[in-house]
Amino acid sequence: MTLKNFDTLLEKYARLIAEVGVGVAKGHTVTVNIAVDQAPLARLISKACYELGAAEVLFLWNDDATGRDFLKFADDDRIENVAQWKLTQQDEVIERKASRISVVSQDPAAFDGVDPKRIATFQTVMGKAMLPTRIATQSNQLSWLVCGAAGLGWAKKVFPELSDEEAVDALWDQIFKTTRIYEEDPVAAWRAHAKLLQDKADEINKEKFDAFHYTAPGTDIVFGMPKNYRFEGAGSVNSRGEEFIANMPTEEVFAAPDANRVDGYIVSTRPLSYAGTIIDGMKFTFKDGKVVDFSAEKGEDVLRSLLDTDEGARRLGEIALVPDPSPISQSGITFFNTLFDENASNHLALGSAYAFSIEGGTEMSEEELIAAGLNRSNVHVDFMVGSPEMNIDGIREDGTRVPIFRNGDWA
Ligand code: ZN
Ligand code: ZN
Repeated sequence: MTLKNFDTLLEKYARLIAEVGVGVAKGHTVTVNIAVDQAPLARLISKACYELGAAEVLFLWNDDATGRDFLKFADDDRIENVAQWKLTQQDEVIERKASRISVVSQDPAAFDGVDPKRIATFQTVMGKAMLPTRIATQSNQLSWLVCGAAGLGWAKKVFPELSDEEAVDALWDQIFKTTRIYEEDPVAAWRAHAKLLQDKADEINKEKFDAFHYTAPGTDIVFGMPKNYRFEGAGSVNSRGEEFIANMPTEEVFAAPDANRVDGYIVSTRPLSYAGTIIDGMKFTFKDGKVVDFSAEKGEDVLRSLLDTDEGARRLGEIALVPDPSPISQSGITFFNTLFDENASNHLALGSAYAFSIEGGTEMSEEELIAAGLNRSNVHVDFMVGSPEMNIDGIREDGTRVPIFRNGDWA
C-alpha cells in the first residue's frame, strides 16, 4: 500500500460506515458481510461499532475462490437446498432488527466459466430462502448499507494497465473520493449531500407525474408511475425512526414505476456485473410492463436466466435519476460494479420494488403493494441506461409535459 495516509483514511471510512451508514447506537446488533481479504477494514468497522455502543458485531465472511469452488463442485442437493443454520441465523438477525453492513469487493468476473445453470439455481434458491431478509430490508424495517472495498481481482478489472499494488491503490482512491473520505469532516459532508438529494426528490414528488418519457439513441420508452409514487434520495429512516444511508456512494434519486405500465424500447449504456459474470450491450422491449423481447452482445444466457428467475424478474422495480455530470460519471471509469456504476448513470432495476417507493408502502402487505403497482420478485438488479444524449419528460395527468432531463443533465 503506497496510498498516502492509507491507515488513517481506512479508519475514517470505517467510522463513516458505522456512524452515518447504519447509524450504530447503544444496544444495536450489527452484521457485516465482508470478504476475508478485507479483514483490516473489518477490524476497524468492528472497533467503530463497539465505540458507538453496539451490543454485538457479527461477521459473515465470504471469499471469491471458495465461493467459486462451491458453485463448481458442490453436490447438486447442496446447491438446491439452503442449510438450516443459515435460516436460523436469518431469523435471529431479523428478530433483533440487526443493522446489515455489506462490503462489496468481489471480482466482477469471479464466477466466469461456472455453469450458468448452477449459478442461476443457487441465486433462485438463495433468493427464496432470504425472502424475509429482503422484505425487512426493502421496507426499511432495519438499517442497511452497501459500500465498497478494493479487492485485487476487482481492482485489476477496473485498472488492467496498472500493477497489482497500483490498481488496488487506484481503486481505494476512487472509493475514498466518491464516499467523501478526503473531506475534512466526511460525516458533515454526507449530511449535506443527503439533504441536497432529498430536496431534488421532493421537487419531483410534488409534481405527481402520471408518467416519464425517455428518449436517447436506441431508446424510446414511457414509464407509467403508480399514484403517490415517492422518489427518495440518499437518506432513509428505519422502523425505529433511526436514520441510515443505504448506499455509499450514492448520487441517485429513485422511485418505482408501475409494474404494468412500461411500454417501448431501451438499451443499456454500461456493462453489468451480475452473479459473477459480465452482461453487456443489452436491448429490451417492454409491453404492459413486461419484457417481451431482449438481447445482449455479451452474457445473453445469464441475462435469460435472470429474466426467467420468476414472474417479477421481467418487470421493473426501480427508476433512478443520476445526472451524467455526476462525479462518478466524470471519472470516466467503468467499475463493473453496480454500486458505483449505477451512480454514474440513469438506471432501472429488473425485479422487486422498494416498499417505500410509494406513500405509506412500508405499512402495506405484499398484496397491497402489488395492487398499488409495485413489482414483487426474488431479484433486484440495476442496469444502466443513461447517457449525455438522454432526454426525459415528465407527463402530467392532463398530458402536458415538463422537461426533467436534457442531454443527460437536470433540465
Ligand atoms: Zn439505484
Ligand atoms: Zn436498485
